[in-house]
Amino acid sequence: MPTEKRYCQCCAQVLYGRLDKKFCDEGCRNNFNNQQNSVQNKEIRIINRVLKRNRAILLAFLALEKKPTKVDRECLLLEGFNFRYMTQHGVGSNGQSYQICYDVGLISEQNTNYLIVLAKDVVH
Ligand SMILES: [Zn+2]
Repeated sequence: MPTEKRYCQCCAQVLYGRLDKKFCDEGCRNNFNNQQNSVQNKEIRIINRVLKRNRAILLAFLALEKKPTKVDRECLLLEGFNFRYMTQHGVGSNGQSYQICYDVGLISEQNTNYLIVLAKDVVH
């Protein structure tokens, strides 16, 4: 009976034994899974860092004014704000679109202006 050779997904050695075997042993299985996780976790860490920075920037503007704060897009970009990463977005009951980053958000105003607000004041 011809059998196709199978190889360990970790070290690429030929596998013998059960047909559903994917690794030579537990060591290879663990190495493979750890590597997969570290690649995925790295992507997540990068995005989390951007989200945290976005939140910190918005909160810093809010802290200065202690109330909803107008800011223009350029100003946010200069602080390092990244518009690609937010945690939520939608359209409020008044038709204005908003973007949320955890507990703080931006309401789009005319042109390139935004109003920075607490998320609880926008999303109910
Ligand atoms: Zn192996």
